[in-house]
Amino acid sequence: MSYSIQTALVPAPQSYETVDLQIRQDKIAAIGAHLPPADTVADTIIDTVIDGRDKLLLPGFVNAHTHSSELWQRGLIPPLPLELWLAELYDFAPLDPEQIYLSALGTAVETLLSGGTTVVDHLVLIPGREAETIAAAVRAYREVGIRAYVAPLVQDQPFGTGLPTLGTAQASHSPASASPEQVMSTEAVLDLLRDAVRQFHDPVAGINLVVAPTGIQLCSDALFEGCAALSDQHGLCRHAHLLETKAQKILAQEKYGGSAVAHLKRLGYLNQRSSLAHCVWLDDYDIEILAETGATVVHNPLSNLRLGSGIAPLLKYRQAGVNIAFGCDGSASNDSQDLLEAIKIGSILHNTTDFEYRHWITPREAVEMAALGGATGLNAADQIGSLTVGKQADLVLYDLRSLSLLPRTDPIGLLVLGRPTQAVHSVWVNGRQVVAQGELCTIDVNQLRQELFERSAWQSPRQSAMRQSMEFRYRELMGLAI
Ligand SMILES: [Zn+2]
Repeated sequence: MSYSIQTALVPAPQSYETVDLQIRQDKIAAIGAHLPPADTVADTIIDTVIDGRDKLLLPGFVNAHTHSSELWQRGLIPPLPLELWLAELYDFAPLDPEQIYLSALGTAVETLLSGGTTVVDHLVLIPGREAETIAAAVRAYREVGIRAYVAPLVQDQPFGTGLPTLGTAQASHSPASASPEQVMSTEAVLDLLRDAVRQFHDPVAGINLVVAPTGIQLCSDALFEGCAALSDQHGLCRHAHLLETKAQKILAQEKYGGSAVAHLKRLGYLNQRSSLAHCVWLDDYDIEILAETGATVVHNPLSNLRLGSGIAPLLKYRQAGVNIAFGCDGSASNDSQDLLEAIKIGSILHNTTDFEYRHWITPREAVEMAALGGATGLNAADQIGSLTVGKQADLVLYDLRSLSLLPRTDPIGLLVLGRPTQAVHSVWVNGRQVVAQGELCTIDVNQLRQELFERSAWQSPRQSAMRQSMEFRYRELMGLAI
């Protein structure tokens, strides 16, 4: 298919300009004023002409960290810190691959309708049905047509070892002391990932497998090293949570006798293909390591606020030259997948951390972090992330006549600082139009709504056994009254 988006507004240095943009097959074929309504390269008539008047055209953003199946628990978990929130989450996690499929559909749709064309799904696996979980998410992303980085969330240490012991004998970080709780062995995890890569890794079609140990709190050195080797072998991106909470920083000190970031560097896990979610509790030395290795920070401001994890030192990352992307994080810690909301909060939040307002993030910088920063974090800046001829056509057209984007002032300022609703008019991923007139072209969203409604029920407060068993230890650790 070929498209010509005509007379759309695009950002230019200091201002905006009006251009035509042509898409041929999967790529941006031409950008310029008053392009002829023909595909000059293939010498054919353009299939579809899109009226871009009163619309803003931007590269698609990357939702650089989420967990799709959390959709089933959004709005439900009470205000709790990460460690106790996780216990609630896992006690009631969905166990049916069909649920995984539906929540991946929902995550993709909400990402597309808030400006995202790529999603990184740090996919929580159903115990004993891991391969089916991956297959269900891949099926959903293929059907919706979003560019997907499917990152099976893996660990090889039991949940109970994720908290520091503070010198007590309660837990050890060695896998040999694992409780009866089911944990896959390191080799079994790596076998699962190898199989998934063989079956599903298809970058040309927009489906990418990612190695993604959950984080230092539940993973052995051998798992990080095995994942790094697999990443090198197949050119896969690497992902992980990193120092999301203060408890994790204390744990790193216990487990490694020092910095988690330095340890990951020693293990060879950090390079330009690595993206690390949260990065709230890093110090200046850690930041230098990220800058030097080329790893990307994925900023998830809403979940960091929701779980009380803290404010990531984003302005320091920017000044050190660390690449930054934005993520929504899972829908049970946000509790939405509105990427524009994450970009807004993730930008203005940092005005409170530094009086030097010249360091504050401008709306244009935020948009570039969300698009090109996201692409860079996936080692794909040469393929996506900007309006550049020859790149993949991952594009979003915003309707500047949407009430939430009026009156006419600065389009990107309105988009980032405002509260855009129903502003996405059209979306292309890999040159395929997946949203038109604000509606999905690829799947029936009404049917999805019906399925989500019927497979859920209004809930009353729940009792999480795991949370109760952890609460005393957590309060002691954090110095809270028992
Ligand atoms: Zn996460």
